[in-house]
Amino acid sequence: MKGNINVQTENIFPVIKKFLYSDHEIFLRELVSNAIDATQKLKTLSSMGKVEGDLGDLTVEVKIEKGKLIVTDHGIGMTAEEIEKYITQIAFSGAQEFLDKYKDAGENLIGHFGLGFYSAFMVADKVEIKTKSYQDAPAQHWSCDGSPAYEMKECKKSDRGTEIILHISDDCKEFLDEQTILQLLKKYCRFMPVPIRFGDESKWEDKLDKDGNPVKDKDGHIERVEKKQPRIINNTNPAWRQKPADLTDEDYKKFYHELYPMNFEDPLFQIHLNVDYPFNLTGILYFPKVRKTIDPNRNKIQLYCNQVFVTDSVEGVVPEYLMLLHGVLDSPDIPLNVSRSYLQSDSNVKKISQHISKKVADKLEDMFKNGREDFESKWDDIKIFVEYGMLTEEKFCERGLKFTLLKNTEGTYFPLDEYREKIAPLQTDKDKNVVYLYASDAEEQHSYIAQAKAKGYDVLLMDSVLNSHFVNLLEQKIEKTRFVRVDSDVVEKLIPHDDTIPEKMSKEDQEKLKPIIEGEVDKQKYTVVLESLEADEQPMLITQSEFMRRYKEMSQTSGGGMGFYGELPESYNLVVNVNNPLVERVLKEEDADKQKQLVHQLADLALLSNGLLKGEALTNFIKRSVSMI
Ligand code: ADP
Repeated sequence: MKGNINVQTENIFPVIKKFLYSDHEIFLRELVSNAIDATQKLKTLSSMGKVEGDLGDLTVEVKIEKGKLIVTDHGIGMTAEEIEKYITQIAFSGAQEFLDKYKDAGENLIGHFGLGFYSAFMVADKVEIKTKSYQDAPAQHWSCDGSPAYEMKECKKSDRGTEIILHISDDCKEFLDEQTILQLLKKYCRFMPVPIRFGDESKWEDKLDKDGNPVKDKDGHIERVEKKQPRIINNTNPAWRQKPADLTDEDYKKFYHELYPMNFEDPLFQIHLNVDYPFNLTGILYFPKVRKTIDPNRNKIQLYCNQVFVTDSVEGVVPEYLMLLHGVLDSPDIPLNVSRSYLQSDSNVKKISQHISKKVADKLEDMFKNGREDFESKWDDIKIFVEYGMLTEEKFCERGLKFTLLKNTEGTYFPLDEYREKIAPLQTDKDKNVVYLYASDAEEQHSYIAQAKAKGYDVLLMDSVLNSHFVNLLEQKIEKTRFVRVDSDVVEKLIPHDDTIPEKMSKEDQEKLKPIIEGEVDKQKYTVVLESLEADEQPMLITQSEFMRRYKEMSQTSGGGMGFYGELPESYNLVVNVNNPLVERVLKEEDADKQKQLVHQLADLALLSNGLLKGEALTNFIKRSVSMI
């Protein structure tokens, strides 16, 4: 029989080719998943008693043979009427519809439109189908060379199932390369539910004699023989499809490494998703160690549709902060054949995304409540993730406030409410704000931390890259709260109370002192501030305004926006303690050179304790110190 395919366009194949140019490779996914579907349908019919007898080996096979790529299954097959209906009419109308819809979309077209069977024409000049239905009907041979004309006739085929034969076109020869096909099968078909064979692989075994004993060579070594065995490229029962109760932590880790063979680090923990209603979703999300760097591009979350790989760009499907996680999501309810902007406004997708976010919050809260010690041990590794989530998702933020931990410089962890209770007695300022002191680097800010501790204050260690944003968020979420970095002011002023320390130096003397010091420091960078501090407090100190520093940091990590602050030069205060006897000596020194030297020395000591004394200035300081001794 000959016929014409029912389409308006003279020849749609060149158009299909052009449209899907960048995504030619998906034809293999489409053909193999058709083969899997046909096999699954057969199994269903068999379990319903509609197909009798043993189904035999149901392995799907992919083969490269003399310029052809062949996909064979032992599924339900098709009768002549079914080919007519499903291939010639329906599938083609799908192709036609696709073209009508996306004619103008051009570049915006996303790759995973399921063109199904016809995507074969993206890579083949001619496609043949040899198929025999499970029903009692003659086998059929259909072929089409890419024009609307096709041919179908009865043929000899004894076993049930379908063989799709692609005559690969000259410009797509890469699809005849074994490694290319192997890579594609691994990418798209790795977790499909029916075994898929692609050629053979070698296995080395002990050589045995006829009694089953190992054969040894003359040196006494056991001889080995190479055995060919079918290469099965997929795992038909991936962990996310199994019941959580049947899986151990080890199983989850094993699956993680199966997903990301190039990643040798274990995940911290995982969430197994399993939803039936109101949408269908399974999957496993793994929490990796997110230290200081955020790199969502390394082990991306993979999206599957009934165990068929679709994509690893899950933008729009999961909230942005969740893209820091690894793992798989599998849902038949995520529309795959539409553009990304549509995906983002799709209500199913929104619900899925909210659900995932909620599950993640549930898991973290549960870990916090029921395994506090374990949760604390993981906190440093998931902190950035939680902070990022709280900064970007209102709902997650509300949940996060319950399990966010603060860690102090002693390494003790506290939930927000516990910490507030602990510090409130000593660290409430005169305006009734509770002041949270923090350090971003325990080494560099050591002297400030020590001074704060000497006053009985507690100091937090907050060193994440998102810290300035996160601290801002906490100030908004927790009433009457201020976060202040330990080096942002002299210790007396970090938490202003009403009491002041009396000044020993008169106002006139202070006015004389200030220009002497200003004359010796870089005025662009340092603002000289005279303060009345305890006499045994250091003579000079460097501080940096909390506000300026924080906004500068925020503009650096948020890329644009607060450009103004980002462009400001680094500026510091040089605080001079007028009550310190050494400062008094500066004023009393009559020898101008000695006076200068003393100012330099004191200022350099302040810089040194702040890690700001470097290069030539440091060399000069050392020389000067030696000469003074
Ligand atoms: P889809 O798979 O989305 O329905 P396709 O164009 O890929 O669209 O296939 C059209 C129809 O052709 C399928 O629904 C199925 O009925 C039939 N078909 C395709 N491949 C096979 C196969 N290997 N075995 C049996 N039927 C098949």
